Amino acid sequence: MSPDKPQGQEKPKKLNLHRHEMPKQPPEVRRGNFNEVALGYTSDLAIAEASRCMGCKQPKCVAGCPVEIDIPAFISHAARGDFAAAIRKLKEKNCLPAVSGRVCPQETQCESKCILKNKGAELAIGRLERFLADWEAEQGEVEIPRRAKPTGKKVAVVGSGPAGITVAGDLALLGHEVTIFEALHKAGGVLTYGIPEFRLPKSVVAREVDYVRRLGVEIQTDCVIGKTRSVDELLGDHDALFIGTGAGLPWFMNIPGENLNGVYSANEYLTRMNLMEGFLFPRSSTPVKKHRVVAVVGGGNVAMDSARTALRMGADKVYVVYRRSHEELPARLEESENAEEEGIVFKMLTLPVRYMGDEKGWVREMECLRMELGEPDSSGRKRPVEVKGSNFTIPVDGVICAIGNSPNPLIPSVTPGLDVTERGTLVADPETGKTTRDRTWAGGDIVTGAATVILAMGAGRKAAKAIHSFLS
Ligand code: FAD
Repeated sequence: MSPDKPQGQEKPKKLNLHRHEMPKQPPEVRRGNFNEVALGYTSDLAIAEASRCMGCKQPKCVAGCPVEIDIPAFISHAARGDFAAAIRKLKEKNCLPAVSGRVCPQETQCESKCILKNKGAELAIGRLERFLADWEAEQGEVEIPRRAKPTGKKVAVVGSGPAGITVAGDLALLGHEVTIFEALHKAGGVLTYGIPEFRLPKSVVAREVDYVRRLGVEIQTDCVIGKTRSVDELLGDHDALFIGTGAGLPWFMNIPGENLNGVYSANEYLTRMNLMEGFLFPRSSTPVKKHRVVAVVGGGNVAMDSARTALRMGADKVYVVYRRSHEELPARLEESENAEEEGIVFKMLTLPVRYMGDEKGWVREMECLRMELGEPDSSGRKRPVEVKGSNFTIPVDGVICAIGNSPNPLIPSVTPGLDVTERGTLVADPETGKTTRDRTWAGGDIVTGAATVILAMGAGRKAAKAIHSFLS
């Protein structure tokens, strides 16, 4: 049997219908610290979970993965306890396995296609991915794959989020000379400045960014393309360019009182906490005001991250205020469940209409309307409709607005010939990422609008293939 063939293809196996739970910090403990909530599988749990794989002849899980990881192959190595072979297989297609194993919405992608889903519970593919990446790091020396012979071609990548990191890693392996230009002082994009330590430790992000450096990628931080250097300048000394600048421009609701003290965009709040390490103050140099009652407006991952961060910063009460119902929450189920377990209060079918402040300009109250659900809107979700006259107030001294982000507008606004859609996203070919500028590709949130880590990585992979074929 080929080492890459799942054992289950050879003889029928007894079904274990239950997936193995991953140990977590108990809610009453973790709400008081910033340590990672999920603790990861042990080797025994990983082998036991991997052994549940049915080794389907035509695995649907692979089709559900935007970066086309050969899932049955890496799982079969793990089931045999050959973790080194498993991580090698996994990294053929994914240079950020510890990150995607932690934050990828597997429940709507690979795991949603798993045949075991209809027979009990789908295989825990993400947890196994995370286990293998952490196992490799614990061994000390991370294996670096052999690079192709240098091609003499130079590629500039703007932005060091998952899209930029993936395109850079893939092109470096193919022998091209790749430099990433990053505006912030640390690489990683949202993985570094947005997603909190308790969900994605920064040491894990740094480890995977370091892996890409060791593939030969140079990373220049503190370099804002469109200000420090222009796209035209980069094209002047590189053969190709990739733009992966993400969607970091926060939306507000444009309601009265949004400029009061104590009202933040989730972007600002999380950046102060994560990138600037505000949660470590006074050991770090970023002070963060302690709020007693915090309302987080929104229902996605960003809202859950903001709410759970505010709780850990010592708030007595944290509300998630969302205009639809629980069923429509866009956050990963695991994260909204974690938030509820920790004591976050969900105020559903509630829409803020105004914030009121005190004489010093600090927010003190929010006025809301109750909502009910009507017919589905263009997103397919039931449309929230205001209940007239249902106004009520909630006392708050902190508000975090987490209702969405637009693409970063700087580069399109100063680069002639780079077309944007009416949503502000870059116009790019969906198969290759080619933009309307010569020798310029793009991918990730700057093209799709705010989306997911794995979709950004998938876009990076497609663009890397297209850039390589152009350079060859
Ligand atoms: P980004 O990660 O945004 O990276 C873009 C990078 O480009 C940034 O580092 C930025 O500083 C840099 N940049 C911008 N402009 C310039 C410029 N002019 N010059 C140089 N550099 C520039 N997705 C999931 O799959 N699971 C989750 O659990 C999840 N949770 C999230 C939680 C939060 C708080 C947020 C904000 C997002 C979350 N997402 C999640 C979404 C996910 O993180 C993004 O979809 C993904 O990071 C997009 O990757 P990207 O590479 O396109 O952009």
